[in-house]
Amino acid sequence: MIIKPKIRGFICTNAHPVGCAAHVQEQIEFVKAQPRVSACPKNVLIIGSSTGYGLASRITAAFGAGANTLGVCFEKEPTERRTGTAGWYNTAAFHEAAKSEGLYANTLNGDAFSHDMKQQVIAAIKADLGQVDAVIYSLASPRRTDPDSGEVYSSTLKPVGKNYSTKTYDTDKNVVHEVSLEAANEDEIANTIKVMGGEDWELWLKALHEAGVLAENATTTAYTYIGKELTWPIYGHATIGKAKEDLDRAAAQLNEAYSNLNINAYVTSLKAVVTQASSAIPVMPLYISLMYQVMKNNDCHEGVIEQIYKLFSQQLFSDNPQLDNDKRIRMDSVETNDDIQAKIKVLWDKVNNDNFDELADYHGYHHDFLKLFGFGIKNVDYDADVSPLAKW
Ligand code: NAD
Repeated sequence: MIIKPKIRGFICTNAHPVGCAAHVQEQIEFVKAQPRVSACPKNVLIIGSSTGYGLASRITAAFGAGANTLGVCFEKEPTERRTGTAGWYNTAAFHEAAKSEGLYANTLNGDAFSHDMKQQVIAAIKADLGQVDAVIYSLASPRRTDPDSGEVYSSTLKPVGKNYSTKTYDTDKNVVHEVSLEAANEDEIANTIKVMGGEDWELWLKALHEAGVLAENATTTAYTYIGKELTWPIYGHATIGKAKEDLDRAAAQLNEAYSNLNINAYVTSLKAVVTQASSAIPVMPLYISLMYQVMKNNDCHEGVIEQIYKLFSQQLFSDNPQLDNDKRIRMDSVETNDDIQAKIKVLWDKVNNDNFDELADYHGYHHDFLKLFGFGIKNVDYDADVSPLAKW
């Protein structure tokens, strides 16, 4: 099969197996070129392990510290006629690379929100690892089925309190235009918290603890995005921000509930990057394109793997991670500092359809977007006939 990108709106509906493997390899090589992550635990569970920040976490734990990794993801297997999802190919490539270095890797594919998946993970830990000493919670999902009631909750990406009009870039039609976003109602806010808040993170820790597979002194983190004024109306102070605030509540609750085991639970704020999750958020493609321009011009651009390597090697597993006033680890301080934000704001105020290509690094944004699906990568022959099938 010759595989070319099929882009529909903010998503690419297919993926390239060789390109995804090359993208994984690039991240592995980055990590291997850095000093070892000395304090990283040895048995790491990553929930949301197949793409974006979760995949980078898995790669850093395995190739930066030689950790055993157990991953959970929700990906589509390929068939003879249809490619799998990028996360499927990433996971297959990760397994192959881990195997070639004698590293334990196991991945369970299915709904992380379900009781059944938690039990499958517990069985795998008991069989292969005994206990886990780190749990990375990196899920991004538009919906969640409550494991007890069976009710399906959907998240929304809307402002809270009042309607909001702003600029956005339509990646489908390639135009900068005004968009009016209607304020969420109470149900929409509550449903978004149900999907992307801390409840499922707590259920994971509870299940692991009750099964006796959570090690003493284990570390756990859930990822958040906080941002600044430019993104607050649609992220930080919006429905998704409300859900992310709930992670702070959950972290405090976890620290208290498992204080006898000396568990350390942190919310980690990461910088904005192009992932499947962020490209679905209105305004983010425009914000990220302008932010890329500024951060690249200021020599401080970072992608997922650089952020996670820094998090693992400097903060998360250190005895005294630096925390902000809300007890979060902040890896986003370069993006959110006043100087960088002021520079982005200047571009934001100026940008329109005529000057977009000049002011914004959309080329960089789009390149990163294609890469998520294994496209646009140097030295991959996209005219070659490749099998879409892959296993792990
Ligand atoms: P992503 O879309 O790349 O990854 C999501 C992962 O969750 C994938 O591995 C997917 O398979 C898995 N997943 C989704 N639903 C699942 C389910 N029901 N069961 C099992 N697995 C499921 O997203 P990302 O951008 O890497 O986001 C990960 C976390 O990082 C999120 O909490 C997000 O808010 C946070 N974050 C993202 C950014 C950003 O700019 N992308 C910035 C800061 C924080």
